[in-house]
Amino acid sequence: MVIAIDGPGGVGKSTVSERVAAALGLPHLDTGSTYRAAGMLALRRRAELDDPRVVADAIEDVDIAIDEGVVTVDGVDVTEQLRGDEVTAASSTVAAYPEVRARIVELQRRWVREHGGSAVVEGRDIGTVVFPGALVKVFLTARPEVRAARRSGDAEAARKTQEQIAAELAARDHADSTRSASPLRPADDAVIIDTSDLDIDDVVGEILGIVDRRERERHHAQ
Ligand code: C5P
Repeated sequence: MVIAIDGPGGVGKSTVSERVAAALGLPHLDTGSTYRAAGMLALRRRAELDDPRVVADAIEDVDIAIDEGVVTVDGVDVTEQLRGDEVTAASSTVAAYPEVRARIVELQRRWVREHGGSAVVEGRDIGTVVFPGALVKVFLTARPEVRAARRSGDAEAARKTQEQIAAELAARDHADSTRSASPLRPADDAVIIDTSDLDIDDVVGEILGIVDRRERERHHAQ
């Protein structure tokens, strides 16, 4: 059973996904960290970021692994480095390249297989592309000012103004939703939850309710 949780940055995807996974006793995969690892590798190898082939070569033959939220590249823990501004921007650039996505999506599907086939998977294209057959698809949204305010609570945003954070989120949203390869958008059968005026418990409760309903429907259908 895959539970796909998609949406733009700053909607609370990670917190909500972790809580849903804990409540269901399922592993949790943050696919953003896989694109962040790809962006970091491209920067580290001084690849021309505007050349898809060169970027795809830079991530070839490296072992990107994720275990309980810790990301390693060829066995070295890079979790902290993935949150920096430069890596954040690079991740969005390289995520637009089909060559990069093909490799990273394969890694994500393998991760879920190796964790028993059931997981809570968060990202941008999980319900549309990575797991189109997911039992539950949720797309989280929130008003831009709410997302910027939530982001300002993150450690890496501590030195920025609310305007800066809002502008960065808007730029990344634009890049993520206008690219031709797997753009950010809700799947046709996704449940869209506007989290602007909800707290985390409400959102988690709503998703657990959907999981429960979908599981019962599946049992009846069998
Ligand atoms: O979620 P997070 O902010 O860590 O994602 C970093 C970047 O990775 C996003 O801006 C997006 O460009 C890319 N991404 C993606 N598809 C996913 C997850 C993340 O393209 N499933």
